[in-house]
Amino acid sequence: MPQPAIVWFRQDLRLNDNPALAAAIKSGAPIIPVFIDDTAHGRPAGRVSLWWRNKSLSALCADLKSRGLDLIYRHGDARDCIRELVTETDASAVFWNRQYEKDTIARDTEIKAWLKETNRLGEGHVGNLFFEPWAITNKKSGSHFKVFSPFWKACLEAGLPRDRWSPPPRIIGPEKWPERSSLPDAGPTPSPEMDTLWHPGEAGALKMLDNFLENSLIGYADNRDIPGGVTTSRLSPHLRWGEISPQRIYAALGDDRHETRDGRKFLAEVGWREFSYYLLYHYPDMQDTCLQSKFDAFPWRDAPDDLEAWKRGETGYPIVDAGMRELACTGYMHNRTRMIAASFLTKHLLIDWRAGENWFWECLADADPANNVAGWQWTAGCGADAAPYFRIFNPIIQGQKFDADGVYTKTYAPELHQLSGKLLFAPWEATPETLADAGIELNVTYPAPIVKHELARERALEAFHGL
Ligand SMILES: Cc1cc2nc3c(=O)[nH]c(=O)nc-3n(C[C@H](O)[C@H](O)[C@H](O)COP(=O)(O)OP(=O)(O)OC[C@H]3O[C@@H](n4cnc5c(N)ncnc54)[C@H](O)[C@@H]3O)c2cc1C
Repeated sequence: MPQPAIVWFRQDLRLNDNPALAAAIKSGAPIIPVFIDDTAHGRPAGRVSLWWRNKSLSALCADLKSRGLDLIYRHGDARDCIRELVTETDASAVFWNRQYEKDTIARDTEIKAWLKETNRLGEGHVGNLFFEPWAITNKKSGSHFKVFSPFWKACLEAGLPRDRWSPPPRIIGPEKWPERSSLPDAGPTPSPEMDTLWHPGEAGALKMLDNFLENSLIGYADNRDIPGGVTTSRLSPHLRWGEISPQRIYAALGDDRHETRDGRKFLAEVGWREFSYYLLYHYPDMQDTCLQSKFDAFPWRDAPDDLEAWKRGETGYPIVDAGMRELACTGYMHNRTRMIAASFLTKHLLIDWRAGENWFWECLADADPANNVAGWQWTAGCGADAAPYFRIFNPIIQGQKFDADGVYTKTYAPELHQLSGKLLFAPWEATPETLADAGIELNVTYPAPIVKHELARERALEAFHGL
């Protein structure tokens, strides 16, 4: 039997459209699938995202089993784990799909060099993006893009790939398997709602895509900003762990649908994800450093009580609180409320975006090394192509505009369900009689605002103007 090849799964927990797996099978070698909980590289997954990953690993393991393979799990420094596995199995090659955090790039380079030194093959593929981040450049300047629209235009002009690949029903494994150890237990579901809402794994991802195309794509361009109801695909946690590829999404849209306004808009959102990874590659320090250096000395407030109130969804601003409670309850937050909540933290409370980013990292099922930091830097105004500093979301107007019927806010702040119109988003403006009729006592049943909108706005404008 020929020497085996290791397929190293990382952020690509799927079998279909998996270029590393496809290349390994094509090489004719028996396949050893491996997942390493790398304790030395990449940002350790946050609490909810880790739960997702562990569920997803179980699903991947079952999918591999149905094709005749085991999933080998290791925990430790990936460089050591790969060296040990390669030596133990006498593998001739290791295949993977690339990751783009700076220390994962350095790790892969080191492993590839070691494989070469020992006359083995180390082969990286582009598996979770349309293009490698270095492949798209601004032809005029010769450098990388800093703004989304021209970047995405260049991607479209380059022709988005949409090859689809499915693995054969049986895949040959090695004669002798390396030592097996059990997969990590996902533990209890972080909240009961998550069990019904989410189905981690490739099958769940494909079903989510089908549901979206069937039920919510038509109207997406207009509805995607409305947080009440299911108006978007909710594919983000699946994409985060690579249970579905962007190519598959593009292929499933098909020519007719992706040419529609809704299809183009949806694809462009997937393009924003591509742009976040592009930025992460070109600005390797962006996970904890402002892309605009003038923000380095920004006088962020040290306000632990305000931060805690924000985390608990008790700021007294119903649309902000609803978003934060949706996060706690479902491990997800709608994009519109992510922007409102992030703007509130960084502008109304003047708290460093990194504190908010860290909280999202812990609580989001889709907590993503590129998207989360890009979203926070964009909202705080310090990112590439960022919202201008004077754009300070008014949480009252945002609520009235995007949750006009109050469905979303009342779902997560049910204590306000008797209010409507502007008062739902500014309960402190209601008369004592109205509040009493609605069963609301400010600071008892629902918090009074922790900061006054007008004062906060002026304070933020002053601070940001001084940059
Ligand atoms: C402060 C902040 C933090 C964020 N943190 C994350 C994060 O950790 N992980 C994450 O995946 N997204 C993050 N986003 C982006 C966005 O909110 C989510 O991707 C989106 O809400 C996911 O819902 P969906 O899958 O239904 O999106 P859809 O509207 O159905 O979009 C389809 C896909 O496109 C991508 N996408 C959509 N919007 C964006 C965007 N603004 N930026 C980048 N990619 C996008 C996602 O992969 C998404 O699954 C953040 C945004 C903000 C403002």
